[in-house]
Amino acid sequence: MIVIVGAGAHGLSAAYHLLKRGVRDVTIVEATRVGYGSSSRNVSRYRVYFNDRKNLKYAQEAMRFFSAESKRLNLNPMFYRTGYLWVLGNTVPEGFRRSSSLWDSEGLGGKYLECDQFPFLKTGLGNCYYGPIAGSFHHDYVTLSYYMEVKGTHRFMKGEVTKILASSGKVKGLLVNGVELQADQVLVTAGAWSSNVLSSPDLSIPVTPERKEAYITEDVKFRVKPLVIDLGTGVYFSHTLKGEIIGGVDKGVSGFVDFSTSLSNMMSYLRRLRELVKGIDGIGILRGWSGFYEMTPDRSHVMGFDPQWPEGLFVDAGYSGHGMMMAPLSGELMAKMITEGKVDPLAAPFTPERFRTHKLLQESMVI
Ligand SMILES: Cc1cc2nc3c(=O)[nH]c(=O)nc-3n(C[C@H](O)[C@H](O)[C@H](O)COP(=O)(O)OP(=O)(O)OC[C@H]3O[C@@H](n4cnc5c(N)ncnc54)[C@H](O)[C@@H]3O)c2cc1C
Repeated sequence: MIVIVGAGAHGLSAAYHLLKRGVRDVTIVEATRVGYGSSSRNVSRYRVYFNDRKNLKYAQEAMRFFSAESKRLNLNPMFYRTGYLWVLGNTVPEGFRRSSSLWDSEGLGGKYLECDQFPFLKTGLGNCYYGPIAGSFHHDYVTLSYYMEVKGTHRFMKGEVTKILASSGKVKGLLVNGVELQADQVLVTAGAWSSNVLSSPDLSIPVTPERKEAYITEDVKFRVKPLVIDLGTGVYFSHTLKGEIIGGVDKGVSGFVDFSTSLSNMMSYLRRLRELVKGIDGIGILRGWSGFYEMTPDRSHVMGFDPQWPEGLFVDAGYSGHGMMMAPLSGELMAKMITEGKVDPLAAPFTPERFRTHKLLQESMVI
């Protein structure tokens, strides 16, 4: 039996792709409820614009896969291309120039423009950079589609996994609420909590939580098509198809703090939004929420296994704030790894042993 720990988008995507490969003996253990973690707390944007080439390649394939998967899923996740627009100000930072050179070398079609060319922006903002291969989707329809696909076949169990059991170098099961559940293979997709799950036995993976907030405004006439990132303040936003402006600020709080929001962050967001966008001066915030970015030291995900781990133990976590868009492809790659015992070349740079062998990636593009 295969046990998946955590019923977020990654656990459910892996469960679905295992089923597609004919694997039916699967149990998904969830501590709280389906989609309790970041999979229901994100802002559902996708991009290929990373600044480590391996992440960029992964994201390109992940977006191709997501686009195709969106046509196969039960519910339409409204995968939709909008582009990303960076507001850079009067001087383009050297680090951003290096990223855009990488994107040019990969033919990602981005370009520098005067921000004044975007009619929804106020004038005089200086330089902008527009990257076309990016957009939006609706996260709930992804998570729910995968759940609907597997719920009649796979077993769901409510409970907290506190220990992974192994003997003679092989996985034997887990403790769920103190009761033993046998398993031949275990996949940990517990998002920001993945390090806790793997801490017993002592298999440290450096995934740490950072609480981030997001806000949504009341509806206004559609005018902001791309996701806008204001590099100076870290405020980002875009328009939903319904008409709200959704976004956040890059300020976060480390640790497993409560899921509250801060008035000062919300005001920074609202103030900058009004400074940047024309015609929304009196707009109000309808609601705000928070969730955990699951951060790793190199801001890149961790998928697969370490040869020093008990055989049959896998992880897929640590997406550092960009995991929702990767869930469809990552679930497929994990299903392939578990059933065929092969690490796909796309997944190879992200295996957990890179932390032990100090082969970290060079990613810094966290939004
Ligand atoms: C504000 C915000 C905005 C974001 N915006 C974007 C975006 O625009 N685009 C994007 O791609 N990504 C975005 N993300 C990141 C994205 O949401 C996550 O990377 C992704 O949802 C992670 O999915 P997951 O399935 O790995 O983890 P989660 O969805 O967190 O699921 C983990 C599950 O494991 C369960 N669990 C934990 N511990 C245990 C245990 N011991 N036993 C059993 N179950 C356990 C939890 O209850 C939870 O349901 C954003 C995140 C936040 C917070």
